[in-house]
Amino acid sequence: MTTVRTRFAPSPTGFIHLGNIRSALYPWAFARANNGTFILRIEDTDLERSTQAAVDVILEGMQWLGLSHDEGPFYQMQRVDRYKEVLAQMLEQGLAYRCYMSSAELDALRERQMAAKQKPRYDGTWRPEPGKTLPPVPEGVLPVIRFRGPVGGSVSWDDKVKGRIEFSNDELDDLIIARPDGTPTYNFCVVVDDIDMGITHVIRGDDHVNNTPRQIHVFRALGKEPPVYAHLPTVLNEQGEKMSKRNGAKPVTQYRDEGFLADAMVNYLARLGWSHGDEEIFSREQFLQWFNLDHLGKSAGQYDETKLRWVNAQH
Ligand code: GLU
Repeated sequence: MTTVRTRFAPSPTGFIHLGNIRSALYPWAFARANNGTFILRIEDTDLERSTQAAVDVILEGMQWLGLSHDEGPFYQMQRVDRYKEVLAQMLEQGLAYRCYMSSAELDALRERQMAAKQKPRYDGTWRPEPGKTLPPVPEGVLPVIRFRGPVGGSVSWDDKVKGRIEFSNDELDDLIIARPDGTPTYNFCVVVDDIDMGITHVIRGDDHVNNTPRQIHVFRALGKEPPVYAHLPTVLNEQGEKMSKRNGAKPVTQYRDEGFLADAMVNYLARLGWSHGDEEIFSREQFLQWFNLDHLGKSAGQYDETKLRWVNAQH
Protein backbone atom coordinates (compact mmCIF):
# COMPACT_ATOMS: atom_id res chain seq x y z
CA MET A 1 0.00 0.00 0.00
CA THR A 2 1.26 3.49 -0.77
CA THR A 3 2.01 5.73 2.17
CA VAL A 4 -0.60 8.37 2.86
CA ARG A 5 0.53 11.94 2.11
CA THR A 6 -1.89 14.77 2.77
CA ARG A 7 -1.60 18.52 2.79
CA PHE A 8 -3.14 21.72 4.04
CA ALA A 9 -2.80 24.45 1.43
CA PRO A 10 -4.17 27.73 2.79
CA SER A 11 -4.06 31.03 0.93
CA PRO A 12 -2.82 33.66 3.40
CA THR A 13 -5.27 36.27 2.19
CA GLY A 14 -7.11 36.73 5.48
CA PHE A 15 -6.83 35.50 9.05
CA ILE A 16 -7.82 31.85 9.10
CA HIS A 17 -10.94 31.10 11.10
CA LEU A 18 -12.41 27.89 12.46
CA GLY A 19 -13.92 26.93 9.13
CA ASN A 20 -10.52 27.13 7.46
CA ILE A 21 -8.55 25.34 10.15
CA ARG A 22 -10.97 22.43 10.02
CA SER A 23 -9.54 21.87 6.52
CA ALA A 24 -6.17 21.37 8.23
CA LEU A 25 -7.49 19.15 11.00
CA TYR A 26 -8.85 16.37 8.78
CA PRO A 27 -5.84 15.90 6.48
CA TRP A 28 -3.59 16.08 9.57
CA ALA A 29 -5.69 13.43 11.36
CA PHE A 30 -5.85 11.22 8.29
CA ALA A 31 -2.06 11.31 7.93
CA ARG A 32 -1.52 10.64 11.65
CA ALA A 33 -4.11 7.83 11.74
CA ASN A 34 -2.35 6.10 8.82
CA ASN A 35 1.30 6.65 9.71
CA GLY A 36 1.41 9.08 6.83
CA THR A 37 2.97 12.44 6.14
CA PHE A 38 1.26 15.81 6.52
CA ILE A 39 2.54 18.70 4.43
CA LEU A 40 1.96 22.43 4.84
CA ARG A 41 1.90 24.52 1.70
CA ILE A 42 1.25 28.24 1.71
CA GLU A 43 -0.51 29.33 -1.49
CA ASP A 44 0.75 32.89 -1.59
CA THR A 45 0.58 33.65 -5.32
CA ASP A 46 -2.08 36.34 -4.85
CA LEU A 47 0.52 39.02 -4.15
CA GLU A 48 -1.97 41.79 -3.55
CA ARG A 49 -3.95 39.97 -0.89
CA SER A 50 -1.37 37.70 0.79
CA THR A 51 0.19 38.99 4.01
CA GLN A 52 2.83 37.80 6.46
CA ALA A 53 0.40 38.49 9.31
CA ALA A 54 -2.02 35.96 7.79
CA VAL A 55 0.81 33.40 7.45
CA ASP A 56 1.64 33.96 11.14
CA VAL A 57 -1.96 33.23 12.19
CA ILE A 58 -1.87 29.99 10.16
CA LEU A 59 1.41 28.86 11.75
CA GLU A 60 0.44 29.92 15.28
CA GLY A 61 -3.05 28.46 15.02
CA MET A 62 -1.72 25.10 13.83
CA GLN A 63 0.93 25.08 16.52
CA TRP A 64 -1.64 25.89 19.21
CA LEU A 65 -3.89 23.05 18.07
CA GLY A 66 -0.97 20.64 17.74
CA LEU A 67 -1.47 20.13 14.01
CA SER A 68 2.22 19.60 13.36
CA HIS A 69 3.41 19.23 9.80
CA ASP A 70 6.14 16.84 8.68
CA GLU A 71 7.20 18.72 5.56
CA GLY A 72 7.13 22.41 4.65
CA PRO A 73 5.96 25.06 4.93
CA PHE A 74 6.45 25.30 1.19
CA TYR A 75 5.66 28.69 -0.30
CA GLN A 76 4.34 28.74 -3.85
CA MET A 77 6.12 32.02 -4.58
CA GLN A 78 9.40 30.18 -4.01
CA ARG A 79 8.44 27.52 -6.54
CA VAL A 80 7.74 29.74 -9.53
CA ASP A 81 10.83 28.51 -11.42
CA ARG A 82 9.55 24.95 -11.08
CA TYR A 83 6.11 25.90 -12.47
CA LYS A 84 7.78 27.67 -15.39
CA GLU A 85 9.86 24.60 -16.10
CA VAL A 86 6.71 22.45 -16.32
CA LEU A 87 4.99 25.10 -18.49
CA ALA A 88 7.92 24.99 -20.92
CA GLN A 89 7.79 21.18 -21.03
CA MET A 90 4.06 21.24 -21.71
CA LEU A 91 4.47 23.71 -24.57
CA GLU A 92 7.22 21.60 -26.06
CA GLN A 93 5.16 18.41 -25.83
CA GLY A 94 2.06 20.01 -27.33
CA LEU A 95 0.11 19.66 -24.09
CA ALA A 96 -0.33 23.41 -23.96
CA TYR A 97 -0.32 26.28 -26.44
CA ARG A 98 0.04 30.04 -26.64
CA CYS A 99 -3.20 31.91 -27.13
CA TYR A 100 -3.00 35.48 -28.42
CA MET A 101 -6.66 36.35 -28.02
CA SER A 102 -6.67 39.60 -26.06
CA SER A 103 -9.04 40.00 -23.14
CA ALA A 104 -11.03 42.57 -25.17
CA GLU A 105 -11.47 40.01 -27.98
CA LEU A 106 -12.42 37.35 -25.47
CA ASP A 107 -15.05 39.68 -23.96
CA ALA A 108 -16.44 40.43 -27.42
CA LEU A 109 -16.60 36.69 -28.20
CA ARG A 110 -18.48 36.07 -24.95
CA GLU A 111 -20.97 38.81 -25.71
CA ARG A 112 -21.67 37.37 -29.16
CA GLN A 113 -22.15 33.92 -27.67
CA MET A 114 -24.49 35.19 -24.99
CA ALA A 115 -26.50 37.15 -27.54
CA ALA A 116 -26.86 33.90 -29.50
CA LYS A 117 -27.96 32.18 -26.26
CA GLN A 118 -24.85 30.01 -26.27
CA LYS A 119 -22.76 29.17 -23.26
CA PRO A 120 -19.79 31.57 -23.27
CA ARG A 121 -16.55 29.74 -23.89
CA TYR A 122 -13.22 30.05 -25.59
CA ASP A 123 -13.58 29.08 -29.24
CA GLY A 124 -10.21 27.38 -29.74
CA THR A 125 -8.91 29.94 -32.25
CA TRP A 126 -5.30 29.36 -31.18
CA ARG A 127 -5.60 25.68 -30.40
CA PRO A 128 -3.33 23.74 -32.74
CA GLU A 129 -4.95 20.84 -34.63
CA PRO A 130 -3.45 18.65 -37.32
CA GLY A 131 -3.85 20.36 -40.68
CA LYS A 132 -5.11 23.63 -39.16
CA THR A 133 -3.41 26.92 -39.98
CA LEU A 134 -3.24 29.24 -37.04
CA PRO A 135 -3.82 32.99 -37.44
CA PRO A 136 -0.73 35.20 -37.77
CA VAL A 137 0.68 36.15 -34.37
CA PRO A 138 -0.45 39.72 -33.66
CA GLU A 139 2.16 42.29 -32.76
CA GLY A 140 2.35 43.61 -29.25
CA VAL A 141 0.02 41.04 -27.69
CA LEU A 142 1.47 38.91 -24.91
CA PRO A 143 -0.07 35.44 -25.03
CA VAL A 144 -1.60 33.43 -22.23
CA ILE A 145 -0.74 29.73 -22.12
CA ARG A 146 -3.69 27.38 -22.34
CA PHE A 147 -3.86 23.73 -21.46
CA ARG A 148 -4.97 21.62 -24.43
CA GLY A 149 -7.92 19.93 -22.76
CA PRO A 150 -9.68 16.81 -24.03
CA VAL A 151 -12.62 17.24 -26.42
CA GLY A 152 -15.79 15.24 -25.88
CA GLY A 153 -16.38 12.68 -23.17
CA SER A 154 -16.43 13.40 -19.49
CA VAL A 155 -14.31 13.35 -16.37
CA SER A 156 -15.39 11.91 -13.06
CA TRP A 157 -14.13 10.92 -9.65
CA ASP A 158 -15.45 9.16 -6.56
CA ASP A 159 -15.43 11.85 -3.95
CA LYS A 160 -15.02 10.51 -0.41
CA VAL A 161 -17.68 12.93 0.83
CA LYS A 162 -19.93 13.64 -2.12
CA GLY A 163 -19.87 10.36 -4.00
CA ARG A 164 -19.46 10.18 -7.75
CA ILE A 165 -19.09 13.54 -9.49
CA GLU A 166 -19.00 13.88 -13.25
CA PHE A 167 -18.38 16.86 -15.55
CA SER A 168 -18.79 16.89 -19.29
CA ASN A 169 -15.54 17.96 -20.95
CA ASP A 170 -17.48 20.28 -23.20
CA GLU A 171 -18.22 22.40 -20.14
CA LEU A 172 -14.53 23.01 -19.55
CA ASP A 173 -12.65 25.67 -21.50
CA ASP A 174 -9.02 25.12 -22.37
CA LEU A 175 -7.66 26.21 -18.98
CA ILE A 176 -5.37 29.23 -18.82
CA ILE A 177 -2.26 27.98 -17.05
CA ALA A 178 -0.08 31.09 -17.42
CA ARG A 179 -1.03 34.76 -17.60
CA PRO A 180 0.30 37.20 -20.22
CA ASP A 181 3.14 38.18 -17.86
CA GLY A 182 4.19 34.51 -17.70
CA THR A 183 3.05 33.86 -14.13
CA PRO A 184 1.40 30.46 -13.62
CA THR A 185 -2.23 30.33 -12.53
CA TYR A 186 -3.68 28.82 -9.40
CA ASN A 187 -5.14 25.53 -10.72
CA PHE A 188 -1.91 24.72 -12.49
CA CYS A 189 0.37 25.39 -9.47
CA VAL A 190 -1.83 23.19 -7.29
CA VAL A 191 -1.38 20.23 -9.63
CA VAL A 192 2.38 20.66 -10.01
CA ASP A 193 2.66 20.88 -6.22
CA ASP A 194 0.40 17.92 -5.54
CA ILE A 195 2.50 15.86 -7.98
CA ASP A 196 5.88 17.02 -6.69
CA MET A 197 4.78 16.55 -3.08
CA GLY A 198 3.40 13.07 -3.81
CA ILE A 199 -0.03 13.88 -2.37
CA THR A 200 -2.26 10.79 -2.17
CA HIS A 201 -5.39 12.37 -0.62
CA VAL A 202 -6.65 15.89 -1.19
CA ILE A 203 -9.01 16.88 1.61
CA ARG A 204 -10.27 20.44 1.11
CA GLY A 205 -13.29 22.71 1.05
CA ASP A 206 -16.05 22.03 -1.45
CA ASP A 207 -15.58 25.48 -2.98
CA HIS A 208 -12.92 23.64 -5.03
CA VAL A 209 -15.24 21.04 -6.59
CA ASN A 210 -15.40 23.01 -9.84
CA ASN A 211 -11.61 23.16 -10.03
CA THR A 212 -11.20 19.42 -9.61
CA PRO A 213 -12.12 18.26 -13.17
CA ARG A 214 -9.65 20.79 -14.56
CA GLN A 215 -6.96 19.65 -12.16
CA ILE A 216 -7.60 15.97 -12.97
CA HIS A 217 -7.02 16.66 -16.66
CA VAL A 218 -3.72 18.37 -15.94
CA PHE A 219 -2.63 15.45 -13.74
CA ARG A 220 -3.35 12.97 -16.53
CA ALA A 221 -1.67 15.12 -19.19
CA LEU A 222 1.43 15.09 -17.00
CA GLY A 223 1.25 11.31 -16.86
CA LYS A 224 0.02 11.03 -13.25
CA GLU A 225 -3.10 9.59 -11.72
CA PRO A 226 -4.95 12.16 -9.61
CA PRO A 227 -5.15 11.68 -5.83
CA VAL A 228 -8.25 10.65 -3.88
CA TYR A 229 -10.48 13.67 -3.27
CA ALA A 230 -12.64 14.49 -0.26
CA HIS A 231 -14.46 17.81 -0.54
CA LEU A 232 -15.69 19.09 2.80
CA PRO A 233 -18.97 20.95 3.11
CA THR A 234 -18.76 24.56 4.26
CA VAL A 235 -18.87 25.65 7.87
CA LEU A 236 -21.73 28.06 8.53
CA ASN A 237 -21.71 30.78 11.16
CA GLU A 238 -24.39 31.14 13.83
CA GLN A 239 -26.57 33.09 11.39
CA GLY A 240 -26.41 30.23 8.88
CA GLU A 241 -24.16 32.08 6.41
CA LYS A 242 -20.87 30.75 5.08
CA MET A 243 -18.30 31.53 7.78
CA SER A 244 -15.95 34.25 6.62
CA LYS A 245 -13.77 36.98 7.96
CA ARG A 246 -16.06 39.52 6.33
CA ASN A 247 -19.05 38.47 8.39
CA GLY A 248 -17.21 38.51 11.66
CA ALA A 249 -15.47 35.12 11.99
CA LYS A 250 -12.69 35.34 14.58
CA PRO A 251 -9.11 34.41 13.69
CA VAL A 252 -8.36 30.99 15.15
CA THR A 253 -5.69 32.40 17.48
CA GLN A 254 -8.31 34.56 19.18
CA TYR A 255 -9.82 31.43 20.74
CA ARG A 256 -6.41 30.62 22.20
CA ASP A 257 -6.19 34.16 23.58
CA GLU A 258 -9.68 33.82 25.09
CA GLY A 259 -8.47 30.75 27.00
CA PHE A 260 -10.09 27.91 25.08
CA LEU A 261 -8.26 24.61 25.42
CA ALA A 262 -6.57 23.23 22.31
CA ASP A 263 -7.88 19.70 22.89
CA ALA A 264 -11.42 21.01 23.30
CA MET A 265 -11.11 22.96 20.08
CA VAL A 266 -9.82 19.88 18.24
CA ASN A 267 -12.76 17.89 19.65
CA TYR A 268 -15.26 20.58 18.67
CA LEU A 269 -13.87 21.02 15.13
CA ALA A 270 -13.63 17.27 14.60
CA ARG A 271 -17.35 16.91 15.36
CA LEU A 272 -18.26 19.80 13.09
CA GLY A 273 -18.05 17.63 9.98
CA TRP A 274 -17.31 14.10 11.08
CA SER A 275 -18.89 11.65 13.50
CA HIS A 276 -18.09 8.53 15.44
CA GLY A 277 -21.42 7.12 16.54
CA ASP A 278 -22.95 9.37 19.17
CA GLU A 279 -19.65 10.33 20.78
CA GLU A 280 -19.52 14.05 21.52
CA ILE A 281 -16.57 14.32 23.84
CA PHE A 282 -13.33 12.58 23.01
CA SER A 283 -9.61 13.01 23.47
CA ARG A 284 -7.13 13.73 20.72
CA GLU A 285 -5.89 10.11 20.97
CA GLN A 286 -9.41 8.73 20.53
CA PHE A 287 -9.97 11.03 17.59
CA LEU A 288 -6.83 9.79 15.86
CA GLN A 289 -7.78 6.21 16.60
CA TRP A 290 -11.26 6.61 15.16
CA PHE A 291 -10.77 9.06 12.31
CA ASN A 292 -11.45 7.89 8.78
CA LEU A 293 -12.77 9.49 5.63
CA ASP A 294 -15.91 7.35 5.53
CA HIS A 295 -17.65 9.25 8.30
CA LEU A 296 -17.23 12.78 7.02
CA GLY A 297 -20.56 14.60 7.06
CA LYS A 298 -22.31 15.47 3.82
CA SER A 299 -24.10 18.58 5.06
CA ALA A 300 -22.68 21.89 6.22
CA GLY A 301 -21.68 22.10 9.89
CA GLN A 302 -22.94 25.10 11.82
CA TYR A 303 -20.81 26.90 14.36
CA ASP A 304 -22.37 27.22 17.79
CA GLU A 305 -20.37 29.07 20.42
CA THR A 306 -22.52 27.79 23.31
CA LYS A 307 -21.74 24.25 22.27
CA LEU A 308 -18.05 25.07 21.92
CA ARG A 309 -18.08 26.42 25.50
CA TRP A 310 -19.79 23.25 26.68
CA VAL A 311 -17.19 21.05 24.93
CA ASN A 312 -14.45 23.19 26.44
CA ALA A 313 -15.88 22.68 29.92
CA GLN A 314 -15.79 18.90 29.47
CA HIS A 315 -12.03 18.85 28.82
N1 GLU B 1 -5.48 27.63 -1.29
C1 GLU B 1 -6.81 27.10 -1.36
C2 GLU B 1 -7.69 27.77 -0.33
O1 GLU B 1 -7.21 28.39 0.58
C3 GLU B 1 -6.85 25.61 -1.11
C4 GLU B 1 -6.39 24.84 -2.30
C5 GLU B 1 -6.45 23.35 -2.17
O2 GLU B 1 -6.61 22.83 -1.05
O3 GLU B 1 -6.32 22.69 -3.19
O4 GLU B 1 -8.88 27.70 -0.42
